[in-house]
Amino acid sequence: MKKILVDKCASMGIAMGKVFLVNRPDITPAEYSVTEEEKGTEIQKFQHAVDTVTANLEEAAKESEIFAAHIELVKDFALKDSVETMIRSGVGNVEQAIAESCNRFVSMFEAMEDEYMRERAVDMKDIKERLLMSVKGINPNPFAAMEEPCIIVATDLAPSDTVRMKKELVLGFITQFGGVTSHVAIIAKNLGLPALVGVTGLMQNVADRDEIILDATGKTIIFKPDEETKNFYKEAVQRTNEENALYAKLKGVPAVTRDGKTVEICANVGNVEDIKTAKEFGFDGIGLFRSEFLYMENTHFPTEEEQFAVYKEAVLTAEKYVIVRTLDIGGDKGLPYFEFEKEENPFLGWRAIRICLEMTDMFKAQLRALLRASAFGDIRIMYPMIISEDELDKADSILEECKKELDIEGKAYNKNIQIGIMIETPAAVICAPELAKKVDFFSIGTNDLTQYITAVDRGNKKISYLYDSFNPAVLRAIKMVINAGHAAGIPVGMCGEFASDEKAAKLLLGMGLDEFSMSASCMNRVKALIREMNYKEISESTEVKRI
Ligand code: PEP
Ligand code: MG
Repeated sequence: MKKILVDKCASMGIAMGKVFLVNRPDITPAEYSVTEEEKGTEIQKFQHAVDTVTANLEEAAKESEIFAAHIELVKDFALKDSVETMIRSGVGNVEQAIAESCNRFVSMFEAMEDEYMRERAVDMKDIKERLLMSVKGINPNPFAAMEEPCIIVATDLAPSDTVRMKKELVLGFITQFGGVTSHVAIIAKNLGLPALVGVTGLMQNVADRDEIILDATGKTIIFKPDEETKNFYKEAVQRTNEENALYAKLKGVPAVTRDGKTVEICANVGNVEDIKTAKEFGFDGIGLFRSEFLYMENTHFPTEEEQFAVYKEAVLTAEKYVIVRTLDIGGDKGLPYFEFEKEENPFLGWRAIRICLEMTDMFKAQLRALLRASAFGDIRIMYPMIISEDELDKADSILEECKKELDIEGKAYNKNIQIGIMIETPAAVICAPELAKKVDFFSIGTNDLTQYITAVDRGNKKISYLYDSFNPAVLRAIKMVINAGHAAGIPVGMCGEFASDEKAAKLLLGMGLDEFSMSASCMNRVKALIREMNYKEISESTEVKRI
């Protein structure tokens, strides 16, 4: 038995079970030489890989036509010719020949004028990886072998991984890298599953299928527990279940303080399924619909019609207001079908509203879909990463264009649709008084705001001890934003993880926060705290005044 203690909990709860170790395949071409007699076998390996990859792609093509182009490329005679010639002429083994030939085609596509052909470079890179995995005997989906309930253990998990895993079998998550606001932490909270991230020494201590206890609430991981420890934790799991049953009784009860001040408790979601899960807990609205998942879980930029169907279903399912954040990609969030240029500082780079204001056709497809869905319920639009009035004006003028188009086309939408912004940059905090006059609401994104105010990367394990939303600079920024919003007569919410921090609830209530939006599993816990408080006493307390 071995224990590791961690300093921060990413998502509370306790799980016991077997480890599912996520292995990242190394697809570096092996360096071995090939004798004259072995050349035929190497060529056969390539042909076998082409057949396997083609079969896999044909399977994928049933779901989406995007793979049709991949199939053409993998079967292309020029690729076959290049790989086989390299092997025959003794330039390299099959892995080296695949890597080099594909790289050559990638460069060729990248240099082309035609945009469609340039995009094929991304497909070619994908084919290279698929062919190399096939000759190396690696399954391209690291989650394919998941068969029983398990705790996912990985060096790190990308947003795309969480899409591929069989979520119904996941008991919890542990990763060696990542901070408490990383996407795996957010997903874990949405699913109500325990998670610990940034666990130093994790991978050295664990093997696939090992027994493990993940006590995220107690910030402890126990490897190969003995019987006594297992029995102790079985009881703890039982207690947690009982506690959750108590919180569940708060469903539908308002978040009102003892002296009658009501705040909204809302859910953060990534898709319609999450709304259904959150509905089980009861919510006042959806404070953050992260629309980027709709883009990340896709093989192409979702069309206006595809998005319209999702947003309409979202608002009809929620039966309350739904704040949809427009596309927030870039930073740590990539897309499988779009290549981002490599940047020195992606979190300070081309992301979120910056991308939307450049790729206006894509942005308009989303805005038109949102507007049309607003005819079916209270959809509200929220722009992320705003840093200036100018950016907000530009986004609004594109929105106006969309409204005019819909008017001409005779398509219905809510003419009074509410528009808000996320306050997650220091620039937005400082300009909050001016910005507040131009929008219907603010929502504070403390995950990014904390990293930008304190200059501490939210995902960097080495400095995670510095990532702290209780830093007075962050607290003052929050207070400034609430004051600015209220001075302009608009409500101020918070959809960053800080809204679900039990130690912060009193402070945020005292500062006057109107809406607390968080992962569904945390909502009733925070509601229970608020119902115990006296707003007048807290808001008058010197602690809050000093901030
Ligand atoms: C935030 O930054 O606080 C936020 C809610 O957005 P995300 O975590 O998706 O960046
Ligand atoms: Mg953010």
